[in-house]
Amino acid sequence: MTWQNWAGTERADPARVVSPSSTQEVCDAVRAAVRDGLGVKAVGAGHSFSGAAVAPGVQLLPDRLDAVHEVDRVSGLVRVGAGMPLHRLPPCSPSTGWPWRSSVTSTGRPSAGR
Ligand SMILES: Cc1cc2nc3c(=O)[nH]c(=O)nc-3n(C[C@H](O)[C@H](O)[C@H](O)COP(=O)(O)OP(=O)(O)OC[C@H]3O[C@@H](n4cnc5c(N)ncnc54)[C@H](O)[C@@H]3O)c2cc1C
Repeated sequence: MTWQNWAGTERADPARVVSPSSTQEVCDAVRAAVRDGLGVKAVGAGHSFSGAAVAPGVQLLPDRLDAVHEVDRVSGLVRVGAGMPLHRLPPCSPSTGWPWRSSVTSTGRPSAGR
């Protein structure tokens, strides 16, 4: 199925689309791509206006890599998976009481795509 970016200005027909749910599955996908001579590119919400996310080889969807790995309330450091959407980041949660400052208007996209 043809992928296109948010603006509809960039398109790709990936040879393969993978949606890993663990680091091991990411490694497996990359190894398989190398074996088959394909490039790998992760794609977020496709909000880039350029062709930065165009993946003709293996398109890696990080959606299932959305775990919260660490929330350090002392330092304020939060470690999450590459597919964590901004609107679900722990600092956004009212339960933390942390202020959330961001210039980003589209919080549905993953935290890693910038
Ligand atoms: C309507 C709209 C509003 C916007 N508003 C703002 C704004 O207010 N502030 C602002 O700063 N920007 C804004 N932008 C720009 C947007 O934040 C950037 O283009 C951002 O890079 C888009 O992220 P994405 O997840 O959609 O990445 P994509 O466009 O999917 O990918 C961008 C790049 O990141 C890589 N990538 C994506 N996900 C991963 C991952 N999990 N791991 C490794 N690499 C990855 C891709 O391979 C590609 O190279 C806006 C864009 C749109 C369309």
